[in-house]
Amino acid sequence: MRDVIVVGAGPAGNNTAFNLAGRGYDVVVVDLTRRIGDKLCTGIVGRECLERFPIDPGLVHRDVKGAVVAAPGGEVVSLGRQEVQAHVVDRVSYVDSLAEKGRNAGAEYLLGHRATEVVPEDQGWRVETVNGSGGRTLKARALVLASGFGSDLTGRVGLGRVGDFATGVQAEVMAPGVEDIHVYFGQGVAPGFFAWMVPTSGGRALVGLLCRRRGMGHLQKLVLRLQMEGKVTRVTRAPARWGVPLRPLGRTFGDGVLAVGDSAGQLKPTTGGGIYYALLASEIAAGALHRAFTRGDLSSDRLSAYEREWKDLLAHEMDVGYSARRMFEVLKDWQINLLMHMFASDGVFEELVDLQSLSFDWHSGVIARLMDHPMLNRALTFINPVLATLAPRS
Ligand SMILES: Cc1cc2nc3c(=O)[nH]c(=O)nc-3n(C[C@H](O)[C@H](O)[C@H](O)COP(=O)(O)OP(=O)(O)OC[C@H]3O[C@@H](n4cnc5c(N)ncnc54)[C@H](O)[C@@H]3O)c2cc1C
Repeated sequence: MRDVIVVGAGPAGNNTAFNLAGRGYDVVVVDLTRRIGDKLCTGIVGRECLERFPIDPGLVHRDVKGAVVAAPGGEVVSLGRQEVQAHVVDRVSYVDSLAEKGRNAGAEYLLGHRATEVVPEDQGWRVETVNGSGGRTLKARALVLASGFGSDLTGRVGLGRVGDFATGVQAEVMAPGVEDIHVYFGQGVAPGFFAWMVPTSGGRALVGLLCRRRGMGHLQKLVLRLQMEGKVTRVTRAPARWGVPLRPLGRTFGDGVLAVGDSAGQLKPTTGGGIYYALLASEIAAGALHRAFTRGDLSSDRLSAYEREWKDLLAHEMDVGYSARRMFEVLKDWQINLLMHMFASDGVFEELVDLQSLSFDWHSGVIARLMDHPMLNRALTFINPVLATLAPRS
């Protein structure tokens, strides 16, 4: 009998394993893939994330100070600061380096094994895995589900499924002259959400978008548009799609079990970024499990501390971000055009960019400031009086 089985070797699973194995626990990490970290992702992380969870500088494609934002009608605004705000990293290698830390701390990795059954037993949990050459039965006193978006394992242990989600679609292209991150809005581009072109290295870029439906069709249209504009020369990796949770699970703990990262829905609903929150939540999960082991009590009562702690840190951000996201989703193109034009011409963007509270990872402060801004209030009252009353407050 081991101490902990972690299902999933993404950021959440690797960092949980590292923090537990480093405290002397017997940890096994199971992942269905053999190439750790190979999941659809753009690999943008904030400066704060890399300060806290460092990366070999050789794995950073580029530093980001701002972005070029295009309104549906074509108006383009450049937003940025003097200092680096975020980094585009080699996502696969970054996540692999987190697994390496877990291994070095003593965690065992069982790759190419899909966890198919998670069964509560007297002393803890039994996990059955399958791979090409058979499977394994694993037993441990505790189970951590870090199995990412769409995993049915959370439902099987009684934690349900994430409340709301979007679809992310992304392709890799050659875009030799593109140096800046480009963001695109509009019903014809990414209805209710946004699209991006993010240069990585070697003249390549990732082109993608978030939406609720017909993502592949929207991405094809966007790539074609970028080809016609001369920004993209060819597609080097075909579009793929994956889900992005927008709301967390109703409950992220049970007897001897925790859900962490995308499988728990711990993500920024504004942008769909989840690496940093997954890393933060996994530290909290490991701490809660450690205290529970120390007291010899892995009951859901004891493990509820995990949910309290991650919610203290992230729930407000996620709630405010989700309200803002839902409000943005109902805006029509002419309304986005108008807002962007007003913000650009009246210096509102500059004001927001200068805010101390502006952060790549924490959005509630800037959303609150925006919502209180007399310009936005006037604009919303004109655009839709109902929206003005629904604006999220911090
Ligand atoms: C298009 C797109 C772009 C994105 N861009 C960014 C970005 O730029 N920045 C950012 O911060 N976030 C981004 N995200 C979100 C980010 O990728 C996730 O939030 C993050 O990877 C979550 O980490 P995780 O460890 O919770 O899950 P994952 O990284 O999904 O890891 C889950 C792991 O579990 C494994 N697994 C699943 N089921 C099983 C099973 N039954 N048995 C064994 N193993 C299993 C999977 O193979 C996987 O390795 C993006 C998402 C999408 C869709």
